[in-house]
Amino acid sequence: MTDPLMDGDGEGVLRQVYDAAGPYLASLADRPVLDPAAASLPRDLAGDLPDKGEGAAAAVRRLLHVGTGAATHSAGPRFFHFVIGGVTPAALAGDWTASLLDQNAAFRNSSAFATEVETVALRWLRELFGLPEGYGGALVASATFANFTGLGTATHWWGERHGADIAANGLAGLPRMPVLSSGYVHASSRKALQMLGHGRESVEVFARDPVGRVDLAALERRLAGLRAPAVVIANAGEVNAGDFDPVADLADLAERYGAWLHVDGAFGLFAALSPRTAGLVAGIERADSIACDAHKWLNVPYESGFAFLREPARLAVAFGMPGAAYLPGAGAALDGGPGGTAPHPGYALLGPESSRRARSLPIWATLAAYGRSGHQAMVERHLDLAQHLAALVDAAPDLERLADVPLCIVCFRVRPAGVPEQELDDLNRQVGAALLADGRVFAGTTVYGGRVALRPAIVNWRTTESDITAFVEIVRSLIP
Ligand SMILES: *Cc1c(COP(=O)(O)O)cnc(C)c1O
Repeated sequence: MTDPLMDGDGEGVLRQVYDAAGPYLASLADRPVLDPAAASLPRDLAGDLPDKGEGAAAAVRRLLHVGTGAATHSAGPRFFHFVIGGVTPAALAGDWTASLLDQNAAFRNSSAFATEVETVALRWLRELFGLPEGYGGALVASATFANFTGLGTATHWWGERHGADIAANGLAGLPRMPVLSSGYVHASSRKALQMLGHGRESVEVFARDPVGRVDLAALERRLAGLRAPAVVIANAGEVNAGDFDPVADLADLAERYGAWLHVDGAFGLFAALSPRTAGLVAGIERADSIACDAHKWLNVPYESGFAFLREPARLAVAFGMPGAAYLPGAGAALDGGPGGTAPHPGYALLGPESSRRARSLPIWATLAAYGRSGHQAMVERHLDLAQHLAALVDAAPDLERLADVPLCIVCFRVRPAGVPEQELDDLNRQVGAALLADGRVFAGTTVYGGRVALRPAIVNWRTTESDITAFVEIVRSLIP
């Protein structure tokens, strides 16, 4: 019983998951995001590590019971906190397939299949976003890792400019790498710089207002004064209001001063899918590196992000693994990488991970299933829903919109008549907490230009107008 070889019915447990999936997915349209009554359920999974296991059927039954009850149902249509997509049916099936096949997508020799599907998925993503042909990259776990990948590759480029081989010798003896950005820079870019040994405080912020909009003139003065290679981070889609740095202007500056341009487009890159918003990312085709998430607006399961490089061969410099006799070396990636002629040796040589799951499969499946126009339609539906939400906010006497809505995030606060300005921050924090405790819909608070606000983000393929209407009604009902 305790040995998987002896446990028997391997197919039965898969049927258990399948049988639970239908009712669970069907329930998402109406169920609350979080059921406060289910909060104690996970206790059923605690207890001591069993000596004699209960067998797969009983274990999986318990896991499904607790999971379908106590999970945060962010796959459903009313989760507007952070920026979190759902999972399209094709992506879910693709992800199940990835687990079924259990490929190690590290090397061609561990899975030629996964390596080839990853090449296709990356080409399709490049085409989806209209990036020029030379761009190539790797699938990574998240936009944090994509920022790490882009900024890591920039680090080696910067080392070269100083005559240093950072892959071999590290940063010792070098000056601090200058990193310039606007106030829109995301915490994960700082985290990436922290992981890379530059320090999260290495970012110099050039903002012209409390919201964080870029001060181009000050940023240019700094670049001109540096007289040394630098890295500029452009933020294509910031998390408070979905606003964009002027990517083309920053690309001009990067070009003029020989700087590396990294674009964090974790969700904002999807603006490229609609002619209505493509202007927001104009200039991105001049970036040296681009970071994006698939587990947000592409609606594939976690963990899924990707990085694109204008010169993808640079990835092998930063992430190759020479020195282990049983592994392909970095040189193999340079020969067989994007644009190379030899068969691709594997994406482990082009990104931070070594062994890695075949996360290309859900990406391939959703792109094959719904194509360019299906994903464009989804993005445009979300653009419409964001405008609809903005209109409902504008029409409500006790709500106040704080920002334009260029994309999929609506930044607003509750502002009932008669409440003095100095009490509004506390009130909005209170409403934010009440919203999460209530659980029917989820949205988070932020501080926008010094004021506490709600910032619902709409990126789930299941979300429709009635979910937006319900959201506004619930927020208003929770104003004390
Ligand atoms: C979400 C997000 C990230 C980080 O993405 P993870 O997938 O959580 O690592 C980075 N930048 C921006 C702008 C984001 O919205």
